[in-house]
Formats: sequence, structure tokens, C-alpha cells
Amino acid sequence: FAAATLAAGSLMLSACAGGSGSGGEGGGDGGLIGVAMPTKSSERWIQDGNAVKSQLEEQGFTVDLQYAEDDIPTQVSQIENMITKGAEALIIASIDGTTLSEVLQTAADSDIPVIAYDRLIRDSENVDYYASFDNFVVGQQQAWSVLNGLGLTELDGTPIEGAPAGPFNIELFAGSPDDNNATFFWDGAMDVLKPLMDDGTLVVQSGQTSFQQAATLRWDGEAAQSRMEDILTANYSDGTQVDAVLSPYDGISRGIISALEGAGYSVGPEWPVISGQDAELDSVRAIEAGEQYATIFKDTRELAEVAVAMASAILKGEEPEVNNTTDYDNGVKVVPSYLLESQIVVKDNITEVLVDSGYWTEDEIKG
Ligand code: BGC
Repeated sequence: FAAATLAAGSLMLSACAGGSGSGGEGGGDGGLIGVAMPTKSSERWIQDGNAVKSQLEEQGFTVDLQYAEDDIPTQVSQIENMITKGAEALIIASIDGTTLSEVLQTAADSDIPVIAYDRLIRDSENVDYYASFDNFVVGQQQAWSVLNGLGLTELDGTPIEGAPAGPFNIELFAGSPDDNNATFFWDGAMDVLKPLMDDGTLVVQSGQTSFQQAATLRWDGEAAQSRMEDILTANYSDGTQVDAVLSPYDGISRGIISALEGAGYSVGPEWPVISGQDAELDSVRAIEAGEQYATIFKDTRELAEVAVAMASAILKGEEPEVNNTTDYDNGVKVVPSYLLESQIVVKDNITEVLVDSGYWTEDEIKG
């Protein structure tokens, strides 16, 4: 899957799919592949599910695609069903990365290979490969985008000469503690922000600086909204301004935006810099409108391509291509991984990154 190694945004997917053995070659004999996705409540997983399904079908596979609405027992029983139906391989984006050990043992007992999709599956030896992005870098990019919005650095983190000294008030949000990615995003972001918190350039008025304090179970935007409301009431009611909010996901950013609006903030010079992730349509519109400063674009079509190539290689008895065999220890073993690159999206490059790559059309973004 050479195209998957290209930088995001420069893919020619249809050409690639055609050239990578579509038309029933190899394992594509109509064999069934089970694809388990966490939820439809977030647009990105719908994009992922569609991309994986269509690319598998192009290769001649039959696909059982299921969404579990963020309910762990539902996801477990969906995977059990896939095994019962005779799935030849499983591609799984887990809800809670630690809860699948038993069902994966059942899969292993039937020699069904398992690919962890985007989120690492933990505490099981029965995870064969991992397809994802460089999640530590995603966290760094989120932090760089915040610093860029504050005028402190370029988008790649290079310090800007003559930048304002601050101090700037920042509040911190993390993702779901049961999602392995959440700590990677957090660690990447803290790698960038912590030195500036230590030297006083950034101040967290709430004092909530640990992952546990910042975490948002199930990436829930409403939970993030109410935590932000509490933080604003407790720490900013005296007219102190929030200058920035580190947010790990667009749905959380939307909750933060609602809390800020509720507290009387309006878009303009005082409006805080807010990060995000996934380039969800509503959030791309929020970036156009100046409500959200940035998002991190992870091309779900590329990720699908990697996962599909892995499944197809395994079923042909070949070794899937990997580019990382050190970073993703799931508690039992280091899972061989293929990590893709993500891109920061700000107002200025929406067209270049999202429209020119065909991810969203101009019309979709306009709404
Ligand atoms: C994904 C992110 C996503 C988050 C919430 C993470 O595991 O890597 O892209 O924003 O889940 O769905």
C-alpha cells in the first residue's frame, strides 16, 4: 500500500485501490471480514467504517460492519457474532481497549487474525497488528496549534521571535481514560506545554493539570461542557480571561465552545484559542467561523487502506508492512504497527488540506 505512505492529502485513492489487487485477487474470494467500530455518534467513525467497508469490498471480501454506540457489551457480542458467522479476520476499533481479551481468545482459538484499528487493544496477546497514526505527534500538534493561536510558535512548534511573553491562561482537556490513544495525545501535548507551564508562560488557573483531572470519559462533549462550565464558574467569574483550551477531539471542543458562549464569551479578540481533532464537518465550520482555532486531520481513507492491506496480506499468508515495532506495548506484547502522519488544519489551509484532497467538498463545509 505505497499510497498509504504518502503524506496525508496527496492520495489518489481510487487509483491505488485499483492497483492493489482488487477484483478478488488473493484472499478476496468473498471471505467474510468483521469490522467493529465504536460509535456512530462521531462522524469520524462513520467515515472510517465506510472507507474500510468499500475498500474491502473492492478487494472481493464480504464485510460485516457493526457500530456499538459506545456500549462495551454490545461491541463484545458483535465481535462474537462475527466469529460465529465465520469471519476470516477482524478489524476492531475498540471502545475500551482493555475489555476484549475473552472474545479475542475465542477468535485466536479459531485462528482468526485481529487488527487493532486506530485504538490499540490492550492486555491481550491475540492482537496481530495495529493500524493507526503517530498518536504522540497528534498530541504535539494539538499543543503546537494552541501555541500558534497564541502567537508563540509556528504550526510546527518553532518559536516565533518577539512573541508576546504572556502569561496566558490555559485549561486542559484529555480524552477517554480507557482509550489508549488518550494518554498518547496527552503525553504529546504535555511534552510541548509542560515547559511553558513550568516557566510561567502558561497558567492553568483551575490547577487541574493531571491526566485524570483533565480526562473525559467516552470523549463525551456534554461532559466536557459541564466540566468547562464548572472551571469557568470557579476560576474565571472575577473577569479573569481564559486565553486557550487544549482539546483532544472536535466533539469535546464543541462542548467547550458552548460553555464559553454560556459564560458570555463571544468570538473576537478575547475569544480563546481552542484545538481539536478529526476535522469533523461542524468543527471545520467552527474553524471557518473563528470559534475553533485548529483541528488535527487524520485521513480515515488512508487508515482504512492500511488496515485493509494488513488483512489482505495476512489472509494471503504474507507479512503486512509495518513501520513501528517499538512504541505500542499493549501490556502483554509490543504490537507491530503501521503509523500514518496527521496534519494540523487552521482556517488558512482548510481548502488545501481538506477540500483539495477530496475529504470534504466546499459545499459540505458551507453546509
Ligand atoms: C481517535 C480520535 C478520536 C477519539 C474520539 C480516538 O481514539 O484516535 O481520532 O477523536 O478517539 O472518537
